[in-house]
Amino acid sequence: LDGIDAVRILQTAQRSAPDLIAVASGKGGVGKSTLSANLAVAMARAGRAVGLVDADIYGPSQPRLLGMEGSKPVAEEKKMLPVIGAGGIPFLSMGQLAKPGQAIAWRGPMAGNALTQLVDAHWGSVRELIVDLPPGTGDIQLSMVQKHKPIGAVIISTPQDLALIDAARAISFFDQAKVPIIGVVENMSGYICPNCGDVSNPFGAGGAEAAAKELNLPFLGRIPLDIAIRHASDDGVPPALGDGPIAKAYADIAAKVAD
Ligand code: ADP
Repeated sequence: LDGIDAVRILQTAQRSAPDLIAVASGKGGVGKSTLSANLAVAMARAGRAVGLVDADIYGPSQPRLLGMEGSKPVAEEKKMLPVIGAGGIPFLSMGQLAKPGQAIAWRGPMAGNALTQLVDAHWGSVRELIVDLPPGTGDIQLSMVQKHKPIGAVIISTPQDLALIDAARAISFFDQAKVPIIGVVENMSGYICPNCGDVSNPFGAGGAEAAAKELNLPFLGRIPLDIAIRHASDDGVPPALGDGPIAKAYADIAAKVAD
């Protein structure tokens, strides 16, 4: 091999496997999918070649979050070609493997195969792949850590005690699997009243930061409970594409994750 061939082989090898960054939560409804989409958008805005895999078999929501509901990826040479979503994010979703509206009730091995199809797709120049995991610690998470070996995991929680206990379970799952925890994000912390601007804390505040400190994990930042996030998300326009304080909050988290 001369030097140039070696470089070429290295480049090809590099291109075939982006680094996987898992986004996980102890339970559903804490904003894991919303964070995944906006983290991908914020990282892309910072110039990184990022893609997204929606591995949430119970509630795949990335096609909606990225404004591509009903999209169907095509296959080329037996591998799937990602669909380009909002913010130019290439992505693939478990939801695209099922018929629209059809509940996905795969058993372990089938779910694992589906995950492999999404991860081993034609990711091209994508270097970092955000993986939106289902909530909890089930079959998908197991095949994720055993087979696909993410370089790290981001844990998201709301500030409530119960959610934090669930988050601690997810943290210990990744610990046991020897996947480094990149850090903890607190979501829905502080509600900004759209009428008077007053800040209240329906789910408490600071719980995730305190928990991260206690567990010696980096705290990546907090996202307030803001109705604008839900509206933009429902419209398929990730709020990280904007230029207000919410986009800034996602950008700050993305900078820490990319660090
Ligand atoms: P998960 O993936 O953990 O189940 P989602 O990301 O689907 O949670 O979020 C659940 C719901 O909460 C969605 O309707 C979403 O738009 C909304 N949501 C998430 N984060 C926020 C936030 N910071 N402020 C307001 N609504 C949010």
